[in-house]
Amino acid sequence: MAWFLNFYKCARCRRRWTDEWSCMCDDECPHCGFRDMTPYESEELTTIIEEEGKEFVVLWSPETAEHNPDYRELGRFPSRENALEFIGADG
Ligand SMILES: [Zn+2]
Repeated sequence: MAWFLNFYKCARCRRRWTDEWSCMCDDECPHCGFRDMTPYESEELTTIIEEEGKEFVVLWSPETAEHNPDYRELGRFPSRENALEFIGADG
């Protein structure tokens, strides 16, 4: 399982919202309660880069993640570029 940031747009009230979940699952509109909205876009958050002080930390959400991302630290880098290189080399 991976971790996703899902983007939704309600078919009834036309408002938008986002939700983080372990799949591209349907959600209920937080504004009007309209059910079973499918995300129109999804961003994978399985590997993310967090800025922590002067370091950039690469975090990874393991396959076992279900109700929260359960991020594990893969490495710390002096710049975002180094972190991106690390992710690129890994994937
Ligand atoms: Zn709605």
